[in-house]
Amino acid sequence: MAARIAIIGAGYAGLSAAVELTRKGAEVVVFEASRVMGGRARVVEKDGYRLDNGQHILLGAYTETLRLMRFLKVPPRRLLTLPLTLHAPGRLELRAARLPAPFHLAWGVLRARGLTWADRLAMLRLMRFLKRRNYRLDADYPVSELLARTRQTPLLRELVWDQLCVAALNTPPEAASAQVFANVLRDSVGASAAASDMLIPRVDLTELLPVQAAVYLGMSGVAIHTATPIRGVRRENGRFRLDGDPGWNSDFSHVIVATAPYHCAPLLENFDETSQLRQQIASFAYEPITTVYLAYDAGLRLPQPMLQPGGPIVQWLFDKSWSTGEPGLLAAVISASGPYQALPREELVLQVHRCVEALFPHREVRAPAWSQVITEKRATFACHPGLSRPRVQTPVKQLLLAGDYIDSPYPATIESAVRSGLQAARQVLRTAGAPD
Ligand SMILES: Cc1cc2nc3c(=O)[nH]c(=O)nc-3n(C[C@H](O)[C@H](O)[C@H](O)COP(=O)(O)OP(=O)(O)OC[C@H]3O[C@@H](n4cnc5c(N)ncnc54)[C@H](O)[C@@H]3O)c2cc1C
Repeated sequence: MAARIAIIGAGYAGLSAAVELTRKGAEVVVFEASRVMGGRARVVEKDGYRLDNGQHILLGAYTETLRLMRFLKVPPRRLLTLPLTLHAPGRLELRAARLPAPFHLAWGVLRARGLTWADRLAMLRLMRFLKRRNYRLDADYPVSELLARTRQTPLLRELVWDQLCVAALNTPPEAASAQVFANVLRDSVGASAAASDMLIPRVDLTELLPVQAAVYLGMSGVAIHTATPIRGVRRENGRFRLDGDPGWNSDFSHVIVATAPYHCAPLLENFDETSQLRQQIASFAYEPITTVYLAYDAGLRLPQPMLQPGGPIVQWLFDKSWSTGEPGLLAAVISASGPYQALPREELVLQVHRCVEALFPHREVRAPAWSQVITEKRATFACHPGLSRPRVQTPVKQLLLAGDYIDSPYPATIESAVRSGLQAARQVLRTAGAPD
């Protein structure tokens, strides 16, 4: 029988699987519960603004995502490319140089403003510690322990490592995997200047890749059923049927479940063999991300597209005028859990506004005319040391998983989602045509 693949979920994982399978000539149908594609990286329309459900950045190290974007002919100018920059006004200014590795970082650290010699030496000590071990730790332990072992200074912890850890792993350093953090450093700052580049989308996250993927899939004859939640998967006579599939008589040789981990269980529960897998996924913990959008008057502009404003709440502040060209629109990112979660919305907006005001001590900053708080309570899984993550292949033959939580060297990111989708697609292609 012919291979016919159902993909459940049109986030970055599901769409990358769909494109890869289609590119190789397989027959694919995509089902997406929401009306909007992109999953946890999607557009949200509010009061005439096209916002993201959360401000994202990509890295030059996202090789598979960037390859997929090139294949889909996404114009490169849809990403604003910046050298790795840590800018905490009045405290730290560190910018990687356009030099071959490791000089891009070494030169950046040497020229950084706000670092003492003790800070510079500590930073290089950490990188040397990891490099000597080829970025493989003997055992996994919290990032905070890695920082203590390599005697990182309080300033580096506050302005560099803790910030990078929370940005990359969305998990506080005391609870985050040092091994995954080391993997991220290896493939970004440890690799090359280009790999450590920060890429800020100039368009919304649905437009960035999902729309281009849908155009390609549509032109290749692939049906994408949006607003179509799948409630269950059954197997009959060696073929899969989906509960919720509007094409009642359709059956599939393979199914790729490309949902967030917390949406997988109902799609696996008809298969007793998956009980251990379901338990494994159910044991995941999650961390939130809140993005506070503030619309100021058009004259308000930050000196950089993104910076660390300081203060206890906001980790990164983005000025959208640099990326999407919307003057006065700021996005404040608050990653991982923290006391801010107890604040009422108005109080949170006020505190973020205070934090913006503090950046302009010599001028009056009028309150924003408009604001929007978007909290994704389960933005990513908590990337704890030694976390056991499932593989794409489930115990059920030809039933596969894809998503940012699949076993990989990386935390939950767009890149890990894309890689898992490609991996699932390649696994399907290997088994397509094999007897059931
Ligand atoms: C606020 C926020 C900020 C982030 N910042 C960054 C960042 O800066 N850089 C970065 O790389 N990553 C970031 N991430 C992580 C990144 O967005 C995710 O890792 C990635 O989008 C996950 O993609 P996915 O395809 O694995 O899952 P998802 O995006 O969750 O996609 C799953 C899809 O499946 C659909 N679905 C679920 N159940 C069903 C069903 N029963 N039937 C049909 N469809 C179903 C969902 O609607 C969804 O569209 C951030 C995430 C959030 C939330």
